[in-house]
Amino acid sequence: MNIGRALVPLTAVAGLVALCACSTAGASGNDGRLKVTASFYPMQFLAEQIGGGHVDVTGLTKPGTEPHDLELTPRQTGELGESDVIVYLKGLQPAVDDAIAQSGVANTVDAAALTTLEDHGTEVDGQHHTTGDNHTGHEDEVGSPMPEARGASADPHIWLDPVRYAEVAEGVGKALAKADPGHEATYEKNTAALVKKLDALNTDFEDGLKNRTSDTFITTHAAFGYLAERYGLVEEAVNGIDPESEPSAARMKTLHTLAKDKGVSTVFFETLASDRTARTLAGDLGLKTAVLDPIEGITDKSAGRDYFEVQHGNLQALRAALGAK
Ligand SMILES: [Zn+2]
Repeated sequence: MNIGRALVPLTAVAGLVALCACSTAGASGNDGRLKVTASFYPMQFLAEQIGGGHVDVTGLTKPGTEPHDLELTPRQTGELGESDVIVYLKGLQPAVDDAIAQSGVANTVDAAALTTLEDHGTEVDGQHHTTGDNHTGHEDEVGSPMPEARGASADPHIWLDPVRYAEVAEGVGKALAKADPGHEATYEKNTAALVKKLDALNTDFEDGLKNRTSDTFITTHAAFGYLAERYGLVEEAVNGIDPESEPSAARMKTLHTLAKDKGVSTVFFETLASDRTARTLAGDLGLKTAVLDPIEGITDKSAGRDYFEVQHGNLQALRAALGAK
């Protein structure tokens, strides 16, 4: 009896779904897949890995574009409103945050609300350095509007810590399953596989950085605070959270002293921002330069084709800079 009752509606639904898929394919280019908009690469990667063939992912930040100060085109803003699900990171891209708030899309996933954020943002004034376990009580702040990204105290670069990124992956998996319950099993399976790979990456960093001779590294923009803290390293940033800001003379003087005191070997720069300041500082101090990639976008210049490959590149760069054997 149960079988008979189940079969009829299932057949009817299957027919209906097929019809819908055909009729909407021409109109919107959405062939029955869940239409997901992701604010920038790390969010896009999660949606693609977890959604697989059931999602059609659009990234708002084009490859090679620095994401922090992204402005959306009117067309992008319009398309945003047609998303089934939006995955973003509140506090990183103020213009995107505004557009999402006004998009009217109900299924929005804020990665910042899926893990814990900390304050690493004031290293640049030379008065405050990486502070270890300085939790900002973010749990209480979830859902409340964040201040302007440039002046915000919460560091948005959570994806560079494999443990936090895995927490975000779990939340994205749940959100996709909620929006598209028919494919819940696949989303769960893909989430589990991704989390397992992130766990392995975390172990690679732990093992790879174990026998090192120094802890301190200098970067151009303060993207690696969470990664540094996870593995007991100290990040000293030339610039702040915003990679385009100019360092003060006082900050440069502090870095000169610090590089000598802490046995710093390398000044890191990145692929999407200017390397001018890093090269100047390294030149003055006789240090090496190398790339440490904040994975805010993947381009031909990236040291790999996806998050995992570039993170392994970052690990090798850190091992070399910190004298790990
Ligand atoms: Zn950044």
